[in-house]
Amino acid sequence: MNKFEQLGLSESLLKAILDLGFENPSEVQEKAIPLLLEKDTDMVALAQTGTGKTAAFGFPVIQKIDANNRNTQALILSPTRELCLQITNELKNYSKYEKGINVVAVYGGASITEQARDIKRGAQIIVATPGRMQDMINRGLVNITGINYCILDEADEMLNMGFYEDIVNILSTTPDDKNTWLFSATMPAEVARIGKQFMTDPVEVTVGAKNSGSSTVSHEFYLVNARDRYEALKRLADANPDIFSVVFCRTKRDTQAVAEKLVEDGYSAAALHGDLSQAQRDGVMKSFRGRQIQMLVATDVAARGIDVDNITHVVNYQLPDEIETYNHRSGRTGRAGRLGTSIVIVTKSELRKISSIERIIKQKFEEKTIPSGIEICEIQLLHLANKIKDTEVDHEIDNYLPAITNVLEDLTKDELIKKIVSVEFNRFIAYYKKNRDISSQSGDRRERDSAPREGGNTGGGGATRYFVNIGSRDNFDWMSLKDYLKETLDLGRDDVFKVDVKEGFSFFNTDPEHTDKVMEVLNNVQLEGRRINVEISKNDGGGRRDHNGRSSGGGFGGGRSGGGRREGSFAPRREGSGGGFKSDRNAAPREGGFRSDRNSAPREGGFGGRNSAPRGEGSSDRAPRRSESFGDSPRPRRPRRD
Ligand code: ADP
Ligand code: MG
Repeated sequence: MNKFEQLGLSESLLKAILDLGFENPSEVQEKAIPLLLEKDTDMVALAQTGTGKTAAFGFPVIQKIDANNRNTQALILSPTRELCLQITNELKNYSKYEKGINVVAVYGGASITEQARDIKRGAQIIVATPGRMQDMINRGLVNITGINYCILDEADEMLNMGFYEDIVNILSTTPDDKNTWLFSATMPAEVARIGKQFMTDPVEVTVGAKNSGSSTVSHEFYLVNARDRYEALKRLADANPDIFSVVFCRTKRDTQAVAEKLVEDGYSAAALHGDLSQAQRDGVMKSFRGRQIQMLVATDVAARGIDVDNITHVVNYQLPDEIETYNHRSGRTGRAGRLGTSIVIVTKSELRKISSIERIIKQKFEEKTIPSGIEICEIQLLHLANKIKDTEVDHEIDNYLPAITNVLEDLTKDELIKKIVSVEFNRFIAYYKKNRDISSQSGDRRERDSAPREGGNTGGGGATRYFVNIGSRDNFDWMSLKDYLKETLDLGRDDVFKVDVKEGFSFFNTDPEHTDKVMEVLNNVQLEGRRINVEISKNDGGGRRDHNGRSSGGGFGGGRSGGGRREGSFAPRREGSGGGFKSDRNAAPREGGFRSDRNSAPREGGFGGRNSAPRGEGSSDRAPRRSESFGDSPRPRRPRRD
């Protein structure tokens, strides 16, 4: 008995396999076939080219469809005409001893009426390229509303070729209860997105090294003037309060300088480079792993082999000399199946490097705009609100409560909330007023992608910017949110733009003519039982100078917030944390961001705290320090395990 016989395949298939001369199943076949035969399930299968994926889905689909029923039961989408014909041919071979099975190929460049006629005769399986398939659906020449199986073959290639929208449209005309099998050689972000959007609990089959191209990583670049590089870095950190990142510089000197500046400006950063002693490097890595450092500034050599999971962002403060090195850098994030972002801060003269990198990584970059001060402000405020909500109360506080209540008792809940939040907001808004816009634009790249740029200047000035209380927590990314908004609001393709998705909320723009509609419709919609709330954001989404037009040269730093300290990750630091970054004497945990005071006690003065005004306001280019408000309670939440 050969191994094919152990997979649960029917006699007629086994006979065909014998004819094909296949002796043993390949790894992906051995793993996928029994699972697919056994139950009705969604599947994501990752295996390199040439590993026999066609049979891995082909055998099961042939066995599972009903040959006595002439309706279309399975749709296989494939990127090119050649592959389409190849798959069709293979399926015909596989099913040659099975009576009554018809496989029809549907692809562009051939007569659509002939293909339609073949389908009409009864094709249980259609193998199609997305473009032609969409065409046939539009013309009513095919009916896939009753299919049981949809297979996306070479999904990465299809998306590479720009078939995202077609695929989404095609899938939306298929029944919800079908099974979707996705076969791909790599798992770039778009493939993961399709998987997330259209599959339920897919079983995963992986053959060989997963993600050799580091494809759970999405790539973004921000175009700035050379002198704004550092400012851009700060804002990106401020716009991502939970950032946990490796920041790459080209030289040891730059690495040291950037780390020092960050520390000075109140961020929890440290340098890692070859001039540190081994002990210092160990110390830095230990702090990084322990999340006491949110931004590890490193040289390529020193960062080699950093195996820390959960890194949210890789920041290319400067691009490497050898663009191949980019791959090693971006591979520090998106590990262990998590999604990560690789950011490049780039100047105009380096822009062509982006295209070279795109060719190497076989992925596209998204051009984004450095967030404006007001946008950071909004992000930080919402972050604060969420943090307040999630803060566990230590009942030590109960002792003080009567006195506190006494002070605050005349305030209504609304007033109290406003005041609490204003503690942060007043400071931000004061700072923001001095803030200038630092983003540069690369108009020439804009038309290159099929999707309108989200970060570009599209519709800058006149547009209305909205804030909406749904975000990545609700499984949206910018593309799916945009689709959702377009659909819900019944707007056209380019009417919703500059969609920027954060965890618990998002921003987007429309032209002012749609504002009434957006407010009225969206505020009366529910998403999975939750009311959607949309508000007009004061931020125009970037691309403009600030209101008073001043260029203070200063940056909006946003409040530093205590990201990085995910669950249990921060705790009193016992040891001086090695070389590379200025460490404070005190034992209190450093709340990423602000420079600790001398004293080790949790600072009194909850909100408002010590000095809640930005330091050196008006003259300094420093970010405002985070006050010791509860955004970042200096108290450790959990004891540290050392
Ligand atoms: P992929 O889709 O993974 O790129 P294919 O399905 O096109 O790979 O298969 C590649 C080649 O391997 C084809 O020529 C196919 O006939 C052959 N092949 C597939 N499965 C087997 C097997 N179990 N034993 C021998 N050859 C196989
Ligand atoms: Mg294939």
